[in-house]
Amino acid sequence: MAKRIPDLLGALAAAYPAARTELVFHSPFELLVATMLSAQTTDRQVNRVTPLLFARYPTPEALAAADPEVLAGEIAGVGLNRTKARHLVSAAQRLAAVFHGQVPPRLEDLLTLPGVGRKTAKVVLANAFGIPGLAVDTHVFRVARRLGLSAGRTPLEVEKDLEAQIPPTAWTATHHRLIQHGRRVCRARNPRCASCPLGAYCLFRTQPEKSTD
Ligand code: SF4
Repeated sequence: MAKRIPDLLGALAAAYPAARTELVFHSPFELLVATMLSAQTTDRQVNRVTPLLFARYPTPEALAAADPEVLAGEIAGVGLNRTKARHLVSAAQRLAAVFHGQVPPRLEDLLTLPGVGRKTAKVVLANAFGIPGLAVDTHVFRVARRLGLSAGRTPLEVEKDLEAQIPPTAWTATHHRLIQHGRRVCRARNPRCASCPLGAYCLFRTQPEKSTD
């Protein structure tokens, strides 16, 4: 039992050795914008709109001056575009006014930006600044619970459980791997249990009544 977590992480790494974010970005600011756009849409869809967006608004100052209505039209492909546009402009205004036009590399600071929650902040810290983190999105939440890594009822509870069991050096990679597993195999509906590389460790498959999905 003591080896269960290392064995599970080993199987996860073997299944998804190169898992990383699929969002295209070249700076912390671009990753912040892309991650804010990614809520309830696919990374591919975000990557379709960001080249034009980054060309028009290359800095927080430029985005801070954008008209939210115009911006909503420019990001119409990602859904929830009006809310996201408002948040992007407000967050950029705060970056410009409070953080000297820089994305701050601190969780507490990122969480003060409008529209930035814990998941977005930790994704930015991990992928733009190399600060280990285990952001819990819908895939990580579902897969971690099915695997029996957490019985948490909220993303924060699951995050705490995962970070307590997994070494910090593996947090970021595990985040990406759990997401890939959730997208490709352990889908919300009709998970592909028969061909799952983690089946030996899964509570959901062996004791499905323990899952609340
Ligand atoms: S066995 Fe099924 S439920 Fe368990 S992790 Fe694999 S795909 Fe998900």
